[in-house]
Amino acid sequence: MPSSSEAGQPGVLVFDLDDTLYCERDFAFSGFAAVEAHLARLHGNAVVPGTCRALFESGTRRAIFDSALERFGIASGPDRIAKLVTLYRHHRPQIAPCPDTSRFLERDPRPRAIITDGPAAMQRSKIAALGIGPLFGLIIPTGDLPPGMGKPHPRAFEQVMEWSGKPGPDHVYIADNPAKDFIAPKRLGWRTVQIDRACRVHAPEPPSPDHAAEIRIASLDELADPLRLKDPAGFA
Ligand SMILES: [Mg+2]
Repeated sequence: MPSSSEAGQPGVLVFDLDDTLYCERDFAFSGFAAVEAHLARLHGNAVVPGTCRALFESGTRRAIFDSALERFGIASGPDRIAKLVTLYRHHRPQIAPCPDTSRFLERDPRPRAIITDGPAAMQRSKIAALGIGPLFGLIIPTGDLPPGMGKPHPRAFEQVMEWSGKPGPDHVYIADNPAKDFIAPKRLGWRTVQIDRACRVHAPEPPSPDHAAEIRIASLDELADPLRLKDPAGFA
């Protein structure tokens, strides 16, 4: 592994997944289509494709399946919703890395890892669909850890340091959600970068200064500029 002191940059790059390497809403749209296709097989023309997506795009974030079933005139209920949620989580996603993600992973040779929250099987199926798994030395879906160890718990970040064998400041965590992503790595001395994609789902403003990343970028293309990551002064 390259030494951070030699390179003047964090030697280990650690990424979040959703809204960091690809647009999370694309997974949602893909899942909505799978759910609507399932409902259409059962209920035919009552199901209008694109309804869930339209609800999402109009700002609905909760109970989208309930609202869609109501629009279709199909009876809802906890069991039915649970089945649709399972179908959504386990569908084979039609998603792709953001173009700047592909460019970055092609050109940057530093060791890298992923730390991602969410049900482990769902996160792994996203990574498989994105075709990026072999490009990362370590992938930690926190859903595989004991309950309560998702972000902002430090366990996954400590696991990365055990894997890399390097001290905190040799790592950088690149992620999108300041509400939970940067607290643990900052406490461990990691560098932090918030990626603020146009397609983002979560609010980009940190709830407090402790939640904030050191720098904010709009695309991984900005990480190609060595001046931005050269030293603490240039980094900030
Ligand atoms: Mg994210």
